[in-house]
Amino acid sequence: MVTIKDIDYFSLCEHHLLPFFGKAHVAYFPNGKIIGLSKIPRIVNMFSHRLQVQERMTQQIAETINDVLTPKGVAVVLEGEHMCMQMRGVEKQNSYATTSFMMGYFREDPKTRDEFLKIISMRK
Ligand SMILES: [Zn+2]
Repeated sequence: MVTIKDIDYFSLCEHHLLPFFGKAHVAYFPNGKIIGLSKIPRIVNMFSHRLQVQERMTQQIAETINDVLTPKGVAVVLEGEHMCMQMRGVEKQNSYATTSFMMGYFREDPKTRDEFLKIISMRK
């Protein structure tokens, strides 16, 4: 399993035209083909540099990696702080949204998914 975590991204919410930003965590289970590790953050950037919705961005990153590598599985987790959430009401100032999209092994095999979730929850 190849995991790249804590990829910073910065995007703009298409509903409110306000920034949202945070970290992306990406993993794939190679099926012979691998790509340079720097390509993964580039794919994240490609989708964050446009008006976005966090849920859709999560899915787009996963599907693109799936198309490029045809791996045995892809997992993408995005943590996002949304200015549009934080600006409304004091209660929500420290909340952030987590979205995930799992394909292949990560969807079908709880052990593989748990391994990924364990890796991304470890602090450096
Ligand atoms: Zn918004």
